Amino acid sequence: MSLFIKNIKALVTCDSNDTVLEHVNLFIEDGLIKYLGTEVFEAEEFIDGKDMIVYPGLINTHHHLYQTFTRNLPQVQNMELFDWLITLYEIWKGITPEVIRYSSLVGMGELMKNGCTTCFDHHYVFPAGTKGNLIDVQFEAAKELGIRMHASRGSMSLSKKDGGLPPDSVVQTIDEILDDSERLIKKYHNKDHNSMTQIALAPCSPFSVTGELMKESAVLARKYGVRLHTHLAETKDEENFTLSQFNMRPLDYMESLGWIGEDVWFAHGIHFNDEELKVLAKTKTGVAHCPISNMKLSSGIARIPEMIELDIPVGLAVDGSASNDGSNLLEEIRTAYLLHRLQSSRNAPSGYDILKLATNGSARVLGRNDLGSIEVGKAADLFMIRTNRLEFVGTQYDPKSVLATVGVKGPVDYTVINGKIVVKDKELVNIDEEAISAKANEVVDKLIKRNC
Ligand SMILES: [Zn+2]
Repeated sequence: MSLFIKNIKALVTCDSNDTVLEHVNLFIEDGLIKYLGTEVFEAEEFIDGKDMIVYPGLINTHHHLYQTFTRNLPQVQNMELFDWLITLYEIWKGITPEVIRYSSLVGMGELMKNGCTTCFDHHYVFPAGTKGNLIDVQFEAAKELGIRMHASRGSMSLSKKDGGLPPDSVVQTIDEILDDSERLIKKYHNKDHNSMTQIALAPCSPFSVTGELMKESAVLARKYGVRLHTHLAETKDEENFTLSQFNMRPLDYMESLGWIGEDVWFAHGIHFNDEELKVLAKTKTGVAHCPISNMKLSSGIARIPEMIELDIPVGLAVDGSASNDGSNLLEEIRTAYLLHRLQSSRNAPSGYDILKLATNGSARVLGRNDLGSIEVGKAADLFMIRTNRLEFVGTQYDPKSVLATVGVKGPVDYTVINGKIVVKDKELVNIDEEAISAKANEVVDKLIKRNC
């Protein structure tokens, strides 16, 4: 499979020199970027790059795709994290393989339509008695769409009766969790250059799993060289929970369980103090920044300017759609930019700094040095924006920052993943969007009405 993109108006590489190329040709073959320059190549597919800006594909470092089916629900709109979770668990305990299939198609489809080429998902709800392997269903959906997928085997093991937050019907035993984790690693974790599938282990949070599960998960992950992920330092309620239960702040607690280091990244990371930021920097422990979710749930503002200054690995993420309420990293880029301008003024990251969080920052968090920039030899993941439109008039002076400063509202013109065109003229190529949307809405209805 080969693709030739000719005469690109501006190509923002996000390489280490921050190179922007103009009037350049790009040749892709066998899923990899093979050539950047002025030569012309024969290829099976062709895109005219005139008036187009090309960017590296965006990489999402935290999501809960199943939540795509519990967004905009009136009963939780005024809540903060703990009450929000307790209310939603009652719906989530009814999820089925069908919910996972259609929410994955919808959530990842929306990501791709907005320039995302790699999706990390954190699935942790496995209701008792559910038939079918939910993570396998996610991988099938990703393959159907053509997106690069990092799934995680999430888990919950600490229910209400043991002092945790979730109901009994959605927690599992350590053995069940570890057995399925190992099965998934063996089946899907591909470490090759340009890998399309990887696994991480992701117990849900300090207040929904036991310390023992965290420890055992870390041992298993390190045996196979897979990454570790969980929610941390998201709210003051969580901080109060670990202080009262373990007499430790959240990061100290995680450190005591072996959860620190360059193979670990935390979702949110809002309430770290100065000392804790230094620990993250020293150990290269990463953070997935989810600005819209943090604003929606009134959780706080992550200290992103300091994290960038300290060279802590930071990626961008949408978080689950119940707290977003969508799967759009372009929207996240603009929101992150504006939020930190408001909070930090002159110390805020530039628009381009935020784009780099969503590209090579996220790639670093996921441990992927073959993703996150457009360079010869890297995976051919990119998206394209047509600029000869009214809403881009006057924006031509800084293609590196325009996604944050001006923003792109609406789907991108093309998304290419692994060298294949997966979004063309703003629509998904591999699925019938209308038919999938109609079926997905039926499944949403079944899920929501089950609890009425
Ligand atoms: Zn989350």
